[in-house]
Amino acid sequence: MTTCKTGAEHIKSLKDGRTVYIDGQLVADVTEHPAFRNSVRSAAALYDFQARPENIETMTFTHEGSNRRVNRCWQLPRNYAEMVQRRKALQKWAALSCGFMGRSPDHVASTLVGQRIGIDVFQKNNPKRAKSLAGYFEEASRNDYFLTYVIINPQAERSKDWGDQAEGLVAKIVDEDSGGITIRGAKLLGTSSIMANEVLVANLQPLKPGEEDLAFSCALPMNAKGLRVLSRKSYEASAVSVFDNPLSSRFDENDALIYFEDVKVPWERVFVHRDTDMCRAQFHDTPSHAYQNYQAQIRLSVKLKFLIGLAHRITDAIGTNAMPPIREQLGFLAANVGMVHAMLAGMEAEGTMRGDYWVPNRHYMYSAQVLTQDLYPRLINTIRELSGGALIMLPSSIEDYSDPHLAKIIRTTQRAAKMTPDEKVKFLKAAWDAIGSEFGSRHTQYEMFYAGARFVTSGHSYRTFDWEGAAGMVDGLMDTYQLADELGRKVN
Ligand SMILES: Cc1cc2nc3c(=O)[nH]c(=O)nc-3n(C[C@H](O)[C@H](O)[C@H](O)COP(=O)(O)OP(=O)(O)OC[C@H]3O[C@@H](n4cnc5c(N)ncnc54)[C@H](O)[C@@H]3O)c2cc1C
Repeated sequence: MTTCKTGAEHIKSLKDGRTVYIDGQLVADVTEHPAFRNSVRSAAALYDFQARPENIETMTFTHEGSNRRVNRCWQLPRNYAEMVQRRKALQKWAALSCGFMGRSPDHVASTLVGQRIGIDVFQKNNPKRAKSLAGYFEEASRNDYFLTYVIINPQAERSKDWGDQAEGLVAKIVDEDSGGITIRGAKLLGTSSIMANEVLVANLQPLKPGEEDLAFSCALPMNAKGLRVLSRKSYEASAVSVFDNPLSSRFDENDALIYFEDVKVPWERVFVHRDTDMCRAQFHDTPSHAYQNYQAQIRLSVKLKFLIGLAHRITDAIGTNAMPPIREQLGFLAANVGMVHAMLAGMEAEGTMRGDYWVPNRHYMYSAQVLTQDLYPRLINTIRELSGGALIMLPSSIEDYSDPHLAKIIRTTQRAAKMTPDEKVKFLKAAWDAIGSEFGSRHTQYEMFYAGARFVTSGHSYRTFDWEGAAGMVDGLMDTYQLADELGRKVN
């Protein structure tokens, strides 16, 4: 047995008979299918990276009582320094996809790390369910599982409560016995589910009393009987070549509707049972929500660095970067990216101890979340502004180069100040893939919505801000003068 999980092991673990559909077909093996195989390899590459002798210390740690190392995403930081150490490992993983794999294994591992740190919340609610969660954390972390999650309900009719949606839509408990619960219905949007080992199923959106059937959380292997994955269109499958689509051909982590067709979940994998308030508490009274979204900001810090590098290279490609207004635009972008990096450092430095563990500053994390869901589409728009038609005036595909006459015309017309014509085409195709392709467009939607619509994220920001301190300052000023005194002073 190797020191830690490798890519080959991960690929093998996905050949498990899971039920994935795409384009009307049942997929026999996600690791070989043209819609998924490159992305699966990119996921596997994460494990190969951590297993390299030169990376093993940075990327992994030894679980107590184990002789096998696992990724640092499973580490419960005992202090600020350990949190920074963990973050550096997560950034290295994110860098392997330039931040484009948002639901790499460290995302849901961070959710579980937060729940494990806040296990007291589960214990107070129901000791049996707390035992299940603690046991599952042990299993998932020791095996370095790749988990995805589905914690959001299908949109359907947003004007109706979740419990009033059409029958069979929102996943709910339809039966239970001494063995466990049975669930039926849908959840979305299982990003990375085709290449994950397991799925955490929960309910993040508010539920009201009476909606207890919907109020559960559990974990299932992706090959659980009755679990169906309905993949969205694959951008990997429609990628022309790595040269034409270097990102979508390799990092299309996929999103899918997960449908539970009477799936049985044993009690040892049920963490919340028919408790509407506990559905909220598992995320918000523990540091779970804070940890999962802190991971998202770690990953975003890497992606933004890549995107601003791309913006700079575009100005190299078209020879505008010495122009003062262009420098100003780049400087403004750099300030925004710097802000995201600074907020990340702030979340860590201004964190607090919860029991034995260090947790990120919640309000700084929510501030970053609100600001970056707005920043991302603006940043993409600025890159478009900097580019003009360069992103479009490109050979139709790599195949144009196979005709020497066409290749000559391409090399004559794709001129650049600081790149050869071939370098320019290669680079601009990557840039378009990142910001303008269907894959790039999905990323804008992702960054705007993965953590909830603006009214949701702003609500978290509102709830976690120190209003008392802020309003106290205003009250302090008010206390320094009184109407009666001032009137008296005027009269005198
Ligand atoms: C690419 C992508 C990947 C995702 N991956 C995952 C995943 O892996 N797992 C997972 O669980 N989820 C995932 N999600 C789902 C994501 O969490 C949700 O999209 C997000 O929480 C927003 O919910 P919604 O889509 O239902 O939009 P809504 O909440 O319905 O919002 C849609 C619009 O309606 C407005 N609106 C709706 N209700 C109100 C209201 N009451 N007041 C004011 N405005 C309102 C919103 O402001 C917004 O403009 C993913 C989403 C995307 C786009």
